[in-house]
Amino acid sequence: MPDLVDLFVPLDAADEPLGPRLERALGWAAGDAGAWRIARRSLDARKGRPLGYRLRVAVARAGESLPAAAVARRPPPAWPASVPRPRVAIVGSGPAGSWAALRLLEAGVPSTILELGKPVQPRRRDLALANRGQLNPDSNYCFGEGGAGTYSDGKLYTRSKDRDAIAAVLGDLLGLGAPPEIETESRPHIGSNRLPKLLTALRQRLEASGVVYRFEAAAAGLRTDGRRIRAVRLRGGDEIGADVVVLAVGHSARPVYDWLAGAGVALERKAIAVGVRIEHPQPLIDRIQYGRAAGHPRLPPAFYELTAEGQGRGVYSFCMCPGGWIVPAATESGTVVVNGMSLSRRDSPFANAGLVATVEASDFGPDGAGPLAGVAFQRAIEEAAAAAGGGDLRAPAQRLTDFLAQRPSRELGATSYRPGVAAADLRAVLPPVVQSALRDGLRAIGARLPAFLHPEALLVAAETRTSAPVRIVRAADSLQSPSLEGLYPAGEGAGYAGGIVSAALDGVRVADAIIARAQR
Ligand SMILES: Cc1cc2nc3c(=O)[nH]c(=O)nc-3n(C[C@H](O)[C@H](O)[C@H](O)COP(=O)(O)OP(=O)(O)OC[C@H]3O[C@@H](n4cnc5c(N)ncnc54)[C@H](O)[C@@H]3O)c2cc1C
Repeated sequence: MPDLVDLFVPLDAADEPLGPRLERALGWAAGDAGAWRIARRSLDARKGRPLGYRLRVAVARAGESLPAAAVARRPPPAWPASVPRPRVAIVGSGPAGSWAALRLLEAGVPSTILELGKPVQPRRRDLALANRGQLNPDSNYCFGEGGAGTYSDGKLYTRSKDRDAIAAVLGDLLGLGAPPEIETESRPHIGSNRLPKLLTALRQRLEASGVVYRFEAAAAGLRTDGRRIRAVRLRGGDEIGADVVVLAVGHSARPVYDWLAGAGVALERKAIAVGVRIEHPQPLIDRIQYGRAAGHPRLPPAFYELTAEGQGRGVYSFCMCPGGWIVPAATESGTVVVNGMSLSRRDSPFANAGLVATVEASDFGPDGAGPLAGVAFQRAIEEAAAAAGGGDLRAPAQRLTDFLAQRPSRELGATSYRPGVAAADLRAVLPPVVQSALRDGLRAIGARLPAFLHPEALLVAAETRTSAPVRIVRAADSLQSPSLEGLYPAGEGAGYAGGIVSAALDGVRVADAIIARAQR
């Protein structure tokens, strides 16, 4: 067995050979260390400490071999031979739908994936149009092959504590061609230039084993015989026969929520968080986080994660994209929604993050407004953003310092948001409770990091799609909808996940529940 050793390597020593440092840490004599492999690496940029890397290293003695890192594998589930295989339709090709398909296949159950949007390549052309101000409501930054995370920063960390399940998803991604660092970095990310290739590889692997993809196939309802599902109805009239439906449609599938509500499927409101994208010049964030070491060639563009409280609400940064772009993430015409992405090398001159305040389900309006009141709440903000932006996906923006002083911005600095920004007063866009929470939260953040409240920082609206405002109810044990046998809500749109890895984990969980039911 190799020895595992934890080390701190100061930034300026990062280019020195590691062997002698490992030997000193292990109390070995010079020359005792043989092969070694970094198992974990994180940048330690905490204030008041020397800047450098914390490493966990597996090291073998000279002359001994270092076993290869084990790629995590889940034990394969078994579909019982006596139970006929169901016809499975998976609605949505995002991480939840894709990993449900992958897991079912491990048990020998192929599926049909129905995807509203287009495959990655033609989808890219629609994103280019969106960046020029023209939205395709069926093919955009949220809808299309691979789901909402395809053209994203591709951050792969999650709040899930299930290390084995996370390692298995990362193992799948490695098998599809993800860079090896995703296993060792504490904050792994893939980037929008690499993600589409991985997703194409995933599709090819699934198709080769019998999974059928139908693109530009919008699920528009379910045909049932009372309690059981018989088919998924598509927009345009076609039907896809199915006994089991995994509904993995993401947080922006508003028409799906409408037809589920119309069919009497149990839905409930869910708290969300809304606000703005905040954008700074990346060198400014580097100076805040790295101090005098900013600009050091071994340092990556700096990251931050901020939390505060404002008006009794949580205020926090969300989905921070160092060296990234703000992108148009609306799915309905007449609305403006922003989000963030980056390439693997994170080399844009800007740093952006969501800056959001929590909104409780009770903020959406009285109970009588129903389970979809959160969608109406989001849409009202998105329409106000479109009106303040002036059309063509232009986003309203305000200098952070003007937002705090409650005065409109007259002119704005540079931004990465390609459809363009319009100088605005965000009081016309955000609900008063959100504005005041954000203002208080920003002041609290400024008390800790004064340079963060910089006049060059822009607030760009609206960041409304942080998660789904609706939960498609499912039973805790079977993971089925209590309203309809065979209906399995999954992933972020169903309200059970947030983020790429967590949605993939939920897809696996749902597939396991489908298999477990057959085993009973
Ligand atoms: C710009 C952007 C950047 C992001 N960055 C990150 C990041 O760096 N890291 C991270 O962890 N998360 C990120 N996220 C969030 C992440 O993408 C989602 O949490 C995750 O993709 C959710 O997975 P899902 O499978 O549940 O749903 P989705 O990925 O949303 O997939 C749902 C799919 O269902 C399809 N669909 C919707 N309606 C229908 C219908 N009626 N019929 C058929 N198909 C339908 C959609 O087209 C979509 O492809 C980002 C999101 C965006 C938009």
